[in-house]
This record gives sequence, C-alpha cells and structure tokens, in this order.
Amino acid sequence: MKKNPIKLSKLCILFVLLLCLSCSWDQIVRGRVIESINAKADVARDLLDPNKITIILTGTGSPIPSDRIQNSTAIFVNGQFLVFDCGDGVAFAMEKLHLPVTDINGIFITHFHSDHFADLGEVIDRSWLLGRKQTLNVYGPKGTSELVNGFLKSYGQEYFYRTKHHGEAVVPSQWKGAKPNEFLPNADGSSKIVYEKDGVIVRSFFVNHVPVEPAVGYRIEYKGKSIVISGDTADSEFLKKQSSGADYLISEVMSKSIVAKIGESYQSLGSPRFTKIMKDIQLYHIDAEELGRLAEAAKVNTLVLTHMIPVSRNFIQTKSLYKDPIRKSFQGNLIIGEDGKRIEIPLP
Ligand SMILES: [Zn+2]
Ligand SMILES: [Zn+2]
Repeated sequence: MKKNPIKLSKLCILFVLLLCLSCSWDQIVRGRVIESINAKADVARDLLDPNKITIILTGTGSPIPSDRIQNSTAIFVNGQFLVFDCGDGVAFAMEKLHLPVTDINGIFITHFHSDHFADLGEVIDRSWLLGRKQTLNVYGPKGTSELVNGFLKSYGQEYFYRTKHHGEAVVPSQWKGAKPNEFLPNADGSSKIVYEKDGVIVRSFFVNHVPVEPAVGYRIEYKGKSIVISGDTADSEFLKKQSSGADYLISEVMSKSIVAKIGESYQSLGSPRFTKIMKDIQLYHIDAEELGRLAEAAKVNTLVLTHMIPVSRNFIQTKSLYKDPIRKSFQGNLIIGEDGKRIEIPLP
C-alpha cells in the first residue's frame, strides 16, 4: 500500500507540537510555582520587618451584601502577625494577598456577629494546612471558647483526613485547631491588657453594641505608636476614651440617613421585616457625623473607615455619605478603607 505523504507530515507536525507543548508546560508550571514561592517570601519579609508597623484592611465589608470581604484587619508589628476579626471570605483573601498565614501570632475577636467570625474555622484550618507549626491563640471576650471549640468540633473530620492522607510529617496533628483565650473586659470602660509580647501590647475595652454583650474594641501599642480598632459600636464614651491621642482609629461607620431611607423604601413597598431590621441596626452602629465628632474630641491623628454601611459605590457617594459628615468636625487625616488597603507606619 502506498503511504500518504500529507497524512504523515501532519502526524509529524502534531508530534513536534505535543513535544513542544509538554516542554513548555513544564516551564510554565515551574515558573508559576517559583513565582508563587518568591511572592510569598517577599511579602512575608516585608510585613514581618520589625522597623515598621503595617496595617492591612483584609476585609472592609459588613453583613450587608456587597463585593467586599467581610470584616478583618491584619496588623504586622515587631515581626508579629495579629488578626482582628475573621468575617466571611477572609481566609482566601489573606492568601490572595500572600499574607504569611502560617505565622499568625494571634486572632482577636471583637464580638459574636457572624460578619466578624464566619471564616475563623477556615483561617485556623488553612494556616495549619499551609504549614503552621505553633499554637494558634484566639483571644476574645466570654463566648470565645464556645465559638472556637464549636469550629474545632465541626472541623474534626477535616483534621483527621488531612493528616491521614498527607501524614504526620506534613500536617502534624499537634498543631491542628486553635486555643481559645477568654478575657473579661473592665466594666468601667478602662482597658485591660490581653496580649503582651516583645514590647507589643494589645488592650481590650468594652464598646456599646447592645444587645450584643460583650462587644469589645482593641488598642494596639508599640514603641509609642497606637492603633485602635473599634469593633462594632454605637457612639461610645468608652471608644472615645480609648481612642485618645491614637495614631490610627480604624472604625466602623454607618450613614444613618441612608439606612433610614432604605427602611422607608421597604416600608412603602410593604416589607415589615426589612423595615424593622433597617430601624434596629441604626441603634448599635455609629453614624458618620458622630464618628467625626468622636475622632476630633479624642484627637485621633488618622481615622480609617471600615465596615461601612452601606458601602459607597463611587467617590461622589463616598463624599456625600462619609467624607462630608465626618469633615464637619474631624480635622485629622481620613482614609476611606477598601479591601486590601495597606497602611505603613514608620517607627522611630
Ligand atoms: Zn459587623
Ligand atoms: Zn456587630
């Protein structure tokens, strides 16, 4: 039988193409892996640099659906990685930002609304799977043990199968899970030290998020610099007192006039459920104008907005809902938070 030269040459071309493709896939994959390793190492080196403090707003969302990750703030100070709240989506967001999740020194929970803890189980689990080799401490007010132990129970099979599959050497069961550390904040609004390591101090204090009790804020101090995290709170004397002279106040904020309008719309459309919810939530959050007054009275240097209700969609809304009302009183620096926003504080 006569061979078909055209068919043969096509087969040869296909063979060469497949050979080239397999070679290039090797190179592409290897390149991607090297890129990923280097990116993580570069970010870790930078963030764990003890000569500066870095704040990363990992998530600036709230329970109101938006394209934002729910609430979480990461603070890198003196080589320590502290996480404040873990709302939905935070575990993946931290990895996308290449944050060194295996090196988390402590997670601090402000209160027990799910937009502040929904992803705690994933953060605990992923930090372990990716190589954490230390106990992960979770700090928070009464209720933290129940929360952490609940996650540990629900992740029991996950822990078991990961170690069974990859082996003790790769995912040692010794470091799975996390350790809850509950504290009782001082009732008089004064702060209480809940974490202290190599000069880094974290204080906790009551805020007003009634009926959610306890609800706390945190004040982080190192080398004369101070960062206050409000947690969720209504206008609060305790928050004002603890924000006194702070370099940074990272605060939740609400545009109550807009939330009221949303409630009125629901009412006019015959939805009593959302009318009630929109009314209720105004009682335990801080309005932009109130926050401006609080930050000015406390002589805060820089006010950072997170957990904005509602999230503004453009600079005109941001100006109208947040900047203008805050600027009626507040003279300091104002940063409008967004997911992944990074703030560096040089140290003396
Ligand atoms: Zn919240
Ligand atoms: Zn809340």
